[in-house]
Amino acid sequence: MSDHHSHEEPRQIISPYAARIRAIEALLLEKGVLTEPEVQDSISYMEARSPANGAKLVARAWVNPDFKALLLSDGKAAASELGMAPEHPAEFIVVENTPELHNLIVCTLCSCYPRAILGRPPDWYKSFEYRSRAVREPRAVMREFGFEPPEGVEIIVHDSTADVRYMVLPMRPPDTEDLGEEELAELITRDSLIGVNVPRS
Ligand code: FE
Repeated sequence: MSDHHSHEEPRQIISPYAARIRAIEALLLEKGVLTEPEVQDSISYMEARSPANGAKLVARAWVNPDFKALLLSDGKAAASELGMAPEHPAEFIVVENTPELHNLIVCTLCSCYPRAILGRPPDWYKSFEYRSRAVREPRAVMREFGFEPPEGVEIIVHDSTADVRYMVLPMRPPDTEDLGEEELAELITRDSLIGVNVPRS
């Protein structure tokens, strides 16, 4: 009886970009430019950032008008105030949703995102479909995320670049006057910081 099943381990598929990064990493280690612990520290630091950081910034802005003013005028200073370490040299710009205006963030060219604050972007953010449709038909995209901005609300699409990274300051949901900062932060989703949706209510 012959066995047609292969017992070989499935070959790992590595993208050309990943292969290039690994080669560069190996060279930097070999030349002593970086050490293995430095690489690991930097990975851990990157992994520790998450949309929870954005939620903290927004919740503080909702309860503290001075902090909100700082967040809108100097996003990096506001982030530093809450113990986050915004990367340089990219600018971190926070744009405010109002009853008249809704902001949506995209990077039409690639996947620029305020990683220093929010960590890595979701996969769909990097897709060609999102990058093109967010600009062409932002309302249709938001509808697919379950959000329908009221008629008459102006939609502003911000195109991120290597130098300028955006985050949305969503509107505080109604009937949340009794909630404290931490409870408010739980309402703020990653998608609402990108603008494809609004916070939970
Ligand atoms: Fe990009």
